[in-house]
Amino acid sequence: MLKRIFQKLQPTQTKLIAVSKTKPVEMVIDLYEKGQKCFGENRVLELVAKEEELPKDIEWHFIGHLQTNKVKLIAPFVACIHAVDSLKLLKEINKEALKNSRVIDVLLQFHIAEEESKFGLDLKEATQLLESGAFVSMHNIRICGVMGMATFTDDLSQVRREFQYLKKVFDQLKKQFFDDVAFFKEISMGMSGDYEVAVEEGSTMVRIGTLLFGKR
Ligand SMILES: *Cc1c(COP(=O)(O)O)cnc(C)c1O
Repeated sequence: MLKRIFQKLQPTQTKLIAVSKTKPVEMVIDLYEKGQKCFGENRVLELVAKEEELPKDIEWHFIGHLQTNKVKLIAPFVACIHAVDSLKLLKEINKEALKNSRVIDVLLQFHIAEEESKFGLDLKEATQLLESGAFVSMHNIRICGVMGMATFTDDLSQVRREFQYLKKVFDQLKKQFFDDVAFFKEISMGMSGDYEVAVEEGSTMVRIGTLLFGKR
């Protein structure tokens, strides 16, 4: 399966984040030994436990909703935080990154699904965040792009429209705030059920769990 996914991602150089949440470290090791070095988790304590046990050259992505009081636990090692949806969280990540003498890459999460969800910004909120003085003074985070989750549905044309919307949001922010910022280039979208559509619509990172590790 890993090989098949790689073949699909190869033409566009889309990065694969293997989502190992709820799965044992043995399964992570197995994929690691096949060459996969980038993994995603959505629970802080599970991520911390796995990070301690597993090889240090694994690149860990935090893909879930992150509470501010837990940022400090992952700040020493996390490669990228995908789901930043408030200035408060961004400030906390910046603070903990500074304590660790690091710069942490983050993505802004957008609400793109039709489904009700508590999480994710809209374009207006993101604009306010990026125009705030607080953001301008943060030197230990890099906003590298956007992230979104499509509606959980078999209707792939709806999913496609939602991904197209996220791409539009990315283009807008790029033009307005990150025109000359080379590292603002990531669009994290696509999971087991919709990653091929996501790649067609411009995804640069897909987050795949079930296809690689089986049902949770
Ligand atoms: C669990 C999860 C995934 C992976 O989902 P699969 O359908 O198992 O591929 C991707 N992104 C986020 C944010 C997740 O929580």
